[in-house]
Amino acid sequence: MYIVFIGPPGVGKGTQSRRLARHLNIPHLSTGDMLRAACAANTDFGAQVAELLSRGRLVPDQLVNEIVDRRLSEDDCRPGCLFDGFPRTLVQARSLDEILARHGQKVNLVLELRANEDELVRRMLLRATAEHRSDDSPETIRNRLHVYRTETEPLIGYYERAGTLQTVDGMGLPDEIFERITRCLPQEQRSH
Ligand code: AMP
Repeated sequence: MYIVFIGPPGVGKGTQSRRLARHLNIPHLSTGDMLRAACAANTDFGAQVAELLSRGRLVPDQLVNEIVDRRLSEDDCRPGCLFDGFPRTLVQARSLDEILARHGQKVNLVLELRANEDELVRRMLLRATAEHRSDDSPETIRNRLHVYRTETEPLIGYYERAGTLQTVDGMGLPDEIFERITRCLPQEQRSH
């Protein structure tokens, strides 16, 4: 089963998607994690990616698409996987459809997590203190929310038309939210 997680920064996508991947026993693919790993390597390329991340800007589509394409051809992704933070643009969404089609697969389920903006900013500021993430400064937070509204939100209509979208309320306790998420799964995958 191939699942896409969509949601604004701070909505709890990372936590919930990791838990769901464990529940379904499929790989959790976070393009954010992959890009942070690229930054850690001491190369010019890493420095360019780090600069974009620290400003809350998106990394170019082609680069992200290539990273995902390569990762998806690994054997552990055969039974399916969960995408956290990818696709983030329509170009990426179309590319994902093409990559999966080459493997005879498709996106089966898209989970959109929603929360109000005040709550998102509050969560990100908390995380900035806890994790010292360079992209959680107030300025970058505003930028990342703006990028989400303009670049990523159009994906909601795209997946709605494809008939794969399920919207989940991302407000409340993590366990409550996870329960809502599992209710979106096909019956046989709700409890393991
Ligand atoms: P995340 O951990 O998903 O919040 O991603 C952190 C940062 O990595 C984002 O703010 C972007 O700068 C970059 N990034 C992650 N995924 C993508 C993507 N699919 N397309 C472009 N940039 C991305």
